Amino acid sequence: MVSIVVPIYNEEELITQFHEALARALDGVADEWEVVYVNDGSTDSSMELLKGLQSMDQHVVVVELSRNWGHMGAIMAGLHTAAGDAVILMDGDFQDPPEVLPQFIAEWKRGAEVVVAVRRSRQERRKVLSLLFPLFYRIFGALSDFPIPLNAGIFSLMDRKAVDSLIAMRERNPYLPGLRAWIGYRSAIVYYDRQDRAAGDGKLSFISRIKYAFDAITGFSYKPLRLSFVLFALSCCAAILFGATMLFSTDPIKTAALGVTCSIFCMGSLLLLSMGLLGEYLGRVYDQVRARPWSLISNVHRPHARIAAQPAEVVVRNGALAIQTDGVATHEQPGIRAA
Ligand code: UDP
Ligand code: MG
Repeated sequence: MVSIVVPIYNEEELITQFHEALARALDGVADEWEVVYVNDGSTDSSMELLKGLQSMDQHVVVVELSRNWGHMGAIMAGLHTAAGDAVILMDGDFQDPPEVLPQFIAEWKRGAEVVVAVRRSRQERRKVLSLLFPLFYRIFGALSDFPIPLNAGIFSLMDRKAVDSLIAMRERNPYLPGLRAWIGYRSAIVYYDRQDRAAGDGKLSFISRIKYAFDAITGFSYKPLRLSFVLFALSCCAAILFGATMLFSTDPIKTAALGVTCSIFCMGSLLLLSMGLLGEYLGRVYDQVRARPWSLISNVHRPHARIAAQPAEVVVRNGALAIQTDGVATHEQPGIRAA
């Protein structure tokens, strides 16, 4: 069985159209499939629409999160719930085109355990983002200590082995494209042209994108930490230069005043930069130590046909605990291990 995980946050304009396109793309390609829609605390009618889809289509599983956890929290809850032998991750706004799914499944059937969709081109309505994405990939490509395919997001297929490995890592601030490359396994790439979203506005805030960029860099590079040494060397050179200027100056009072002011600012900004970088790493270490879950699931709504086949039970899957009653798993905590 193939599971498709789709995070949903206020996508009422697109849900029905998206599900139709998904079902069309999978028709005749996958023998058995389910689509796990993760409702990430939507405040519009997305939840009602998803339940409506489920009443008409037995392939639909709806995961309801306890609040809005953000894109990655929703993805991790979906990965945790998906039961397929392979799991496809994609956004629900047509930016990841459903027409690519048959290629994913074909590569998987040929033996690939991780299939990554790499963007050949990218349509972006928001001009700032279309400038920032290539800049990010350039910086990340230069900094990363591990080879990670650039221009790839969450859009991918992972075999059950890869999904279980990813969940077992329990990284609190996961940069999914990085971890997906890091786990290894037999990989394949499919290329696609990324379209603009079909309707509505982008739901991710600018700040959350910056945080994600820092997750990528801090997760896969120690180079920013080593920057302190480079800054130290530079500030040593500056100190020597100022010292030499003062020695040869004809107006010692003016030169000394200038030199002192300038070096205070230089040192101050270098120290602040180093501390800021340390803070980025330290904050993530703190998150990891607290070991809070990626997100909390309040309900899993499964289609009735599958509930009938599944008696109430306590399920321990992927090392996580779920109490399953009447087909609705409650209190699932993606990321909390069963004792
Ligand atoms: N999304 C989510 N939770 C959020 C924000 C977004 O589940 O807090 C979903 C959203 O509904 C969409 C996907 O994540 O299916 C990607 O979001 P968006 O299109 O806004 O991001 P972008 O493509 O602009 O990076
Ligand atoms: Mg999008």
